[in-house]
Amino acid sequence: MAKPTVAVFDFTGCEGCELNQLNFENQLLDIIGHVDFVEWREAMDDKADSYDIAFVEGSLSTPDCIERINKIRRKAKILVAVGSCAVQGGVNGLKNTQPIDEVREEVYGEDKYLFPTLPAMALSEVVKVDFNVRGCPMTQIEFLKIFTSLVMGKKPIEPNSAVCVECKLNENECVYEKGMICLGPVTRGGCDAHCPSFGQYCTGCRGFVPEPNLKGMEEILTNHGLSIDEAWKRMELYNANALEGVKP
Ligand code: SF4
Ligand code: SF4
Ligand code: SF4
Repeated sequence: MAKPTVAVFDFTGCEGCELNQLNFENQLLDIIGHVDFVEWREAMDDKADSYDIAFVEGSLSTPDCIERINKIRRKAKILVAVGSCAVQGGVNGLKNTQPIDEVREEVYGEDKYLFPTLPAMALSEVVKVDFNVRGCPMTQIEFLKIFTSLVMGKKPIEPNSAVCVECKLNENECVYEKGMICLGPVTRGGCDAHCPSFGQYCTGCRGFVPEPNLKGMEEILTNHGLSIDEAWKRMELYNANALEGVKP
């Protein structure tokens, strides 16, 4: 039986997620044994006309990105967004909180007209995305789970409960008790409450849960005497796109 063909692509991001994919020291040979990589800029020169699965990192932030992602979508049977930039716009979404012309001027100065730009977008704002590997960077464990399901022809299951659920199951002390602002109540789990398990607050890298209870979040902050403005600023770090039209 022919192995599934896989391609890997990147758009606007730091390439940290992609590097994490290349860093599978123990599993890389197994992965290579089960699929044929047919296109991957960081690892090979070949180009392909079609692929069974495309893993795509980064947000879309220039006009040529739009053309390229549409081409990838046409060639891919399954498209997987990898990392918070691709899934929800991620840190690049901060660009959208300022007037776009000012952003261009700040970065490119008087040459700004040579560099056409767009507000940063998640892949799903432009094309259909089939599955998401969340996080900044994506974790190898989650990538492997989704990768294995797809190679076996199964549908990966995406967690949709909040980070708080995993945090409670791990019996962590809530960092609100230490006076920290934590975005766990509105952030999608799946990371096993990684940051609170190390005594740190969650910064929301996996994006919001479906229908985040932002009012409830405000109540938690008020009850703990913490700043709502500071919480909104933190939410913008990875979720600026999702907050458009929601933030007061
Ligand atoms: S999600 Fe984070 S690690 Fe991945 S490309 Fe974006 S900024 Fe880099
Ligand atoms: S530390 Fe954060 S994730 Fe854990 S229970 Fe408290 S608010 Fe929720
Ligand atoms: S706890 Fe929050 S910030 Fe940390 S990895 Fe999980 S979702 Fe990301």
